[in-house]
Amino acid sequence: MRTAISTLKLLEPNSLNQAFKIMESHPGITPMAGCTDLYVSLNFGTLRSTQFLNLWGLSDLKKIRIQGDLLSIGSLATYTQIIHSTPVKKWIPMLVQAAHSIGGMQIQNRGTIGGNIANGSPAGDTLPVLAAAEAVVILASSRGTRRVPFNSFYTGYRKTVMQQNELILSVEIPKLKGKQWFRKVGTRSAQAISKIVMAAVSRKNASGKNLRIGIGSVAPTVIRLYKTEEILAQTGDIAEAQKTLCSEIQPIDDLRSTAYYRKTVAANLLAEWWEKHLV
Ligand SMILES: Cc1cc2nc3c(=O)[nH]c(=O)nc-3n(C[C@H](O)[C@H](O)[C@H](O)COP(=O)(O)OP(=O)(O)OC[C@H]3O[C@@H](n4cnc5c(N)ncnc54)[C@H](O)[C@@H]3O)c2cc1C
Repeated sequence: MRTAISTLKLLEPNSLNQAFKIMESHPGITPMAGCTDLYVSLNFGTLRSTQFLNLWGLSDLKKIRIQGDLLSIGSLATYTQIIHSTPVKKWIPMLVQAAHSIGGMQIQNRGTIGGNIANGSPAGDTLPVLAAAEAVVILASSRGTRRVPFNSFYTGYRKTVMQQNELILSVEIPKLKGKQWFRKVGTRSAQAISKIVMAAVSRKNASGKNLRIGIGSVAPTVIRLYKTEEILAQTGDIAEAQKTLCSEIQPIDDLRSTAYYRKTVAANLLAEWWEKHLV
């Protein structure tokens, strides 16, 4: 049954410090960004929390900045902001592609990158990009700030290393050199959750090829295909790499697809990237 909004409490901090104080004094309060994920569970009556911390007014968390060799994207940056950001277009074009593929315009105007990361759905479309880009998640609470490599952020299905009262402040992505690629396979091109979503970075360096592949919707969390990357970089044997990919993923049958379809399409996407889009 739909949750009655009148039973819920909304707190609106004016600053990050105030947000941390509210989190200390209201244990279990749920941070709220664009509310595009939260509202779905509110609508279904499955959201247990009754207290919400509205982060939307914390404008510092919306900023996208260049910091030396890094791009720092505030957790409240929306997909629309990402799509129009000159530095993101220049340095992480695969993130712009991912943002374009998310929901429709309304979702892109409200949905945030921090919400996508914290929500932790294995089908989150920015997540394979962040995995392949070797991003770092910046977390903070009243206890201080810490940096977590994105590839160690998830510990299980919708489980993360985030502790009680921690917020995602931003995500840092190195300015990427080399070629980037993003591909989402869904039922249609808009308003569809991924059946498979894949992102890759390839670069030739002095010691050969440097390849990084992130993939979503094929395991309890987004994953990096470390073994597949190694086979491709060392031997270039795509058939062997496809076999390895199939052993690295654990897709399931669910309402969106079947494990068989996901394995087959993931292997096909790997070949498409390898044969047509590599450096
Ligand atoms: C119609 C529709 C279509 C969609 N299509 C897609 C799609 O194609 N691809 C896709 O990946 N997703 C899709 N989504 C899901 C959703 O839009 C995204 O996951 C979005 O990025 C969530 O961001 P948000 O700011 O709305 O998060 P919210 O709903 O505000 O929050 C989501 C979760 O993150 C937590 N949270 C938010 N911000 C922070 C923070 N800074 N620190 C700590 N915790 C935080 C919240 O407590 C909550 O648990 C869709 C949703 C809808 C309703």
